[in-house]
Amino acid sequence: MKHPTQHPETLAIHGGQSPEPTTGAVMPPVFQTSTYAQEAVGQHKGYEYSRTQNPTREKLEAAIASLEGAGLGVPTFCCAFGSGSAATAAVQHLLKAGDLVVSGDDIYGGSYRQFTRVFTQLGLRYRFVDFSRISAEEAIPEGTKLVWLESPTNPLLKVSDIAALAARAHAVGAIVAVDNTFATPIYQRPLALGADLVVHSTTKYLNGHSDVVGGVVVTANPALYERIKFLQNAIGAVPGIWDCWLTLRGIKTLAVRMARHQENARAVVAWLKSRPEVARVWYPLDETHPQHALAQRQMSGFGGMISFELKGDLAAAERFCAACEVFTLAESLGGVESLIELPAAMTHASIPPQVRQEIGIADGLVRASVGIEHVDDLIADLERALRAAFPG
Ligand SMILES: *Cc1c(COP(=O)(O)O)cnc(C)c1O
Repeated sequence: MKHPTQHPETLAIHGGQSPEPTTGAVMPPVFQTSTYAQEAVGQHKGYEYSRTQNPTREKLEAAIASLEGAGLGVPTFCCAFGSGSAATAAVQHLLKAGDLVVSGDDIYGGSYRQFTRVFTQLGLRYRFVDFSRISAEEAIPEGTKLVWLESPTNPLLKVSDIAALAARAHAVGAIVAVDNTFATPIYQRPLALGADLVVHSTTKYLNGHSDVVGGVVVTANPALYERIKFLQNAIGAVPGIWDCWLTLRGIKTLAVRMARHQENARAVVAWLKSRPEVARVWYPLDETHPQHALAQRQMSGFGGMISFELKGDLAAAERFCAACEVFTLAESLGGVESLIELPAAMTHASIPPQVRQEIGIADGLVRASVGIEHVDDLIADLERALRAAFPG
């Protein structure tokens, strides 16, 4: 990393980037090639085959590595994957049959499905806990090999104490992976808090335009990097080159997007709290959030993800979502456009109803990814939808 002391706002644009050497092109070319000519057998310029190395993908990896490593003072490394799920799977592949993973209990539904229906088949053992409720010692028993956490979580936006969990994990010889998709490196840098690996679905805020599916694993540990890089090539779940280029382009505006997402989310939260139809609002930077103090200590901001529970049943919540016009009813999050969804019926439908109830994903729970439109239009849209959902 050339400028390890620069701010994330600057690194989002310049981190790991330099003009292309032959033409001076400011943006890296799209090296749309599967293979590279060799001058003689085994004599090449460091590129043999694009599953293994591609210059455009490397630029994306360097950009995200520099963002997650901002202020860390040591080199960071990143491997890009074809989706956040592929990045999640690469981390599980570090383990072997019999190994114990301690995971947060309201993680992304697709991660839960992958753990319980793919990797348990291969002999990994998962223990799901609410890190916000029990101590690190209780949560992470001796013999744990991997601690997997999201903070803030999806969709209840619970915050976990990354530094405390990392200290306990390291004391029992486990590594810690943090899914940092919601916070982004603009607002939270888990490696600096002691995490060993950071995972992103770049599909969300990092790309930011809802037009690419991708993922990454980032680390400051050279030995872990070598193992992840081996898996990236050996399993081969690599992203396409255009997707790398688009994501790199999206990252240029990450800092300004996050600031606007947050400004809008704060205004929407304040408005929702004034509404009688709304039972409860979750947003870590709101003083009523149960881990507000921890969130303030651990994060420098939050961004645009909010959840709120409507009074009334699933049908009312469905009417509400269907009546939104500026907020598009869709899964996913983190794009410039506002999205809204019902976790119980959509993103978290793969979690059994009883487990959903236990972890607090009520039928009336609505998750919103607040976009960067004009906030007055967003609030007007929600107001109209509330009237449609609760006539009289
Ligand atoms: C979307 C998401 C994933 C999965 O990423 P894909 O790119 O959809 O495979 C993992 N974690 C979180 C928090 C997500 O929001």
